[in-house]
Amino acid sequence: MSIPYGRQSINQQDIDAVVDVLKSDFLTQGPKVPEFEVKMAVYCGAEYGVAVNSATSALHIACLALGLGKDDFLWTSPNTFVASANVGLLCGAQVDFVDIDSSTYNMCPIELENKLKQAESKGVLPKIVMPVHFAGQSCDMQAIYRLSKQYGFAIIEDASHAVGASYLDQKIGNCRYSDITVFSFHPVKIITTAEGGLATTNNKDIAERMRLLRAHGVRKKQSDNNHSFNGDWFYEQITLGMNYRMSDVQATLGISQLSRVDEFVNKRQELASNYFKELSTCPITLPEQFKGTYSSFHLFPIQLKNSIVRKSVFEHMRKKGIGVQVHYIPVHRQPFYNNLGFNKGDFPNSENYYEKVLSLPIYKALNDSDQSFVIDTLKECLSAE
Ligand SMILES: *Cc1c(COP(=O)(O)O)cnc(C)c1O
Repeated sequence: MSIPYGRQSINQQDIDAVVDVLKSDFLTQGPKVPEFEVKMAVYCGAEYGVAVNSATSALHIACLALGLGKDDFLWTSPNTFVASANVGLLCGAQVDFVDIDSSTYNMCPIELENKLKQAESKGVLPKIVMPVHFAGQSCDMQAIYRLSKQYGFAIIEDASHAVGASYLDQKIGNCRYSDITVFSFHPVKIITTAEGGLATTNNKDIAERMRLLRAHGVRKKQSDNNHSFNGDWFYEQITLGMNYRMSDVQATLGISQLSRVDEFVNKRQELASNYFKELSTCPITLPEQFKGTYSSFHLFPIQLKNSIVRKSVFEHMRKKGIGVQVHYIPVHRQPFYNNLGFNKGDFPNSENYYEKVLSLPIYKALNDSDQSFVIDTLKECLSAE
């Protein structure tokens, strides 16, 4: 594909940083991971950052740190990557979905409230609700936060798409309206560490629990009831954890990338404005931007007239070397989730949206002539319909 839907932007500074760390004493468990954690936390305006080897791992330990387990429920959006829901099942909990709002494509607060009312009457309220900032535009966090106080659930923001985005003039990740926020650094996302993820929180206990869970449940500090081993060799396992550590090689790349995050997001905003301007008269639905949000535009999703037009536009653009993509097949429509009892029609807004959506290329290195080619090719397809 000559023009993908998204790709990383690596410069000489990134390469030099990684080469330097390769020549240093630490490839992992050195100083770079804590440095990256502090820089991300400061950038977002949160107290703590916990870096791990993927956003999926971060979501998993976030759920565990909030005590999600058997007999608990996690609710998320059906319009997301499967990982958001899978982590609930990995904790042994049950997963359910809250349908999206047809204009924001994010979890609908009214649907959430209705579902909470029903769940309350049946005694099956969720322990965690996980809104997903789809395409980089914030969910209505004030509304979701208000409901969390009323119904007593915790909030994990899946901000995999939203590094560098803002909500009410504050950076996503400051956890003002959540317990934990999770970012992804996969190469198609806003900044990259090749593979990697990070959780921010303002709660010290939650941060400490996540640090334990990412590294075997082991710590160096000695607990009071364990007097027998006191030497420098000492470590103790106090819970069951995984090895979800980020390496210093990855963290170094992350630090270097983070220094350009605003540049990346500004460029994506600029590309989005071009799409809004050039496509305003086309028979498509553009991704509306809502008051109080500043999107990082991880994706630029448009909706075509119907599924038939979507398929033909997809195929035509792919044939021209344009890597359009579809985000997302609703999670509850995956065979694995069908086997858990979910059916077609369960979350109609996300299903209707999925039928017609197409992601146009948007990334830092997309230049004007390539974007014009994308726009012209799309217009050509639309006039042929
Ligand atoms: C990419 C993504 C993830 C998973 O991120 P990884 O870092 O690849 O584990 C989770 N949720 C959403 C919404 C994503 O887009």
